[in-house]
Amino acid sequence: MRGLMMDRPLLIGALIQYAAEYHGDTEIVTRTTEGPIYRYTYAEAERRARQLAKAMKRLGVGLGDRVATLAWNNHRHFEIYFAVSGIGAVCHTVNPRLFADQLRYIVNHAEDKVLLLDLTFVPIAEKMAGEWPGVRHYVIMTDREHMPQTSLPGALCYEEIVAGETPDLVWPEFDENTASSLCYTSGTTGNPKGALYTHRSTLLHSFAICSANAVGVSMRDAILPVVPMFHVNAWGIPYAAAMSGAKLVFPGPKLDGASLHELFTAEKVTLSLGVPTVWLGLLQYLEQTGKRLDGVKRVTVGGSAAPRAMIAAFEEKYGVQCIHGWGMTEMSPVGTLALPKLKHLERSTDELLAIKSKQGLPLFGVDMKVVGADGAARPHDGASTGELLVRGPWIVSGYFNDDQATAAAFDEEGWFRTGDVSAIDGDGYMIIVDRSKDVIKSGGEWISSIDVENAAMGHPDIAEAAVIGLPHPKWDERPLLIVVPKPGCQPSKDSITAFLGDKIARWQLPDDVVIVPELPHGATGKVLKTQLREQFKDYRLPTA
Ligand code: ADP
Repeated sequence: MRGLMMDRPLLIGALIQYAAEYHGDTEIVTRTTEGPIYRYTYAEAERRARQLAKAMKRLGVGLGDRVATLAWNNHRHFEIYFAVSGIGAVCHTVNPRLFADQLRYIVNHAEDKVLLLDLTFVPIAEKMAGEWPGVRHYVIMTDREHMPQTSLPGALCYEEIVAGETPDLVWPEFDENTASSLCYTSGTTGNPKGALYTHRSTLLHSFAICSANAVGVSMRDAILPVVPMFHVNAWGIPYAAAMSGAKLVFPGPKLDGASLHELFTAEKVTLSLGVPTVWLGLLQYLEQTGKRLDGVKRVTVGGSAAPRAMIAAFEEKYGVQCIHGWGMTEMSPVGTLALPKLKHLERSTDELLAIKSKQGLPLFGVDMKVVGADGAARPHDGASTGELLVRGPWIVSGYFNDDQATAAAFDEEGWFRTGDVSAIDGDGYMIIVDRSKDVIKSGGEWISSIDVENAAMGHPDIAEAAVIGLPHPKWDERPLLIVVPKPGCQPSKDSITAFLGDKIARWQLPDDVVIVPELPHGATGKVLKTQLREQFKDYRLPTA
């Protein structure tokens, strides 16, 4: 028997409409690319999104057309998210930190028709425009006063095209499985691959991350997403904020510790989200200045493993709850979050820290399995490792126009291969051992580069650490530890080895330590292991 409930589509247009109607006077604050702070409300944002939607239609954007952005986290980018998806077009956020080759590939592969860009990225687009034959219109996200001299063909001014329209548009209704946005994974090997989200997947993901077992977003929050809107839709925060009526604070181009701290304080931010590199910068700034994080209740860390020392610093030194999460572009992105259960709350600080350092429990909707080389599921004992596969309504079912990548990414039952080596413990918490391509294979045993990095980052003089495997005649591979000291510190190799001595097993200790001024980071803030392997390919371990 079929139930008797309305089958109403889950649509992004309805999200912003809800925010405007019920949280219309809630603020959205931006540090603009032009410099000053700009503030307005959900009601104004929604009205402008309707005007922009009409402007997009006037430029020829229709159902399913791709509209690209090259932009920071700001109020105009927020309007674009809703205007483009709201009329059934696809908002394709492009990561401006990608290399020219990748930018060429992505914009052409997506067949973007219109590109909206921040002032900062005009030079990049000018260089690329000749190689983007399909882009018909460039819209610069600024007002007339700040419009630059540019070689971009027929460049339009964002504020002008918005002002040129009246807001009389009704958000249309269509199938909730319509594509809404597109984001390519930076992919360290091969071509970037497009994850094509739907209205339905986006709304289900928003419900999930708003829940108290996840990030617990509510209308009593002021949220500052440091994670870029060009990286997996800023982890879904713009949608979750609209769904819950939370105040939004957009940091624009300034992501250093001092600028973030200033906004945290001035705008009474309660929740912020970002990758470990960003938090390293903030924590160093706090240490140097003696400043506090008053008012900030929680920070979310993901994208790479959060070092235990980072979680401890937030929680113990600054009294800020630190939520460690794991996800992927292909998962919208949130898969797991490491919040303790009721039964854990009595445990010691140290035991709790161990739980919070795991990648965490899956949200309802995300199915996980860890399989061995034989394809059989591994027991949930926290120690049996294997490849992690996932499945769920906000996980990709294929890559956009890429049969080859799609064929390689799924098992026979349709589970998505994450490429992560993991274990699941008895309570269901998932632990990432490594990316399968980064794990170090020493004498038939695996060494987790993440474990060694994590331990090294607990050293008081070390800011950042990376571990790669180097060839070894006896063990196949052995770990090399590469570290960046904190400003003004000069840790010795011996002090680092001694420090690691009681934190990881003897056979996992790095065979050598190299001290460098900085590590190479990819477009999403992750350490680029491929580049490190290239850089150290002729390095001989003293043990080899
Ligand atoms: P990219 O565009 O850099 O590929 P993704 O966000 O899609 O960005 O990368 C996903 C991968 O990042 C995961 O498969 C995992 O290897 C790694 N990752 C994400 N979060 C964590 C975490 N909390 N701990 C360890 N690894 C993580």
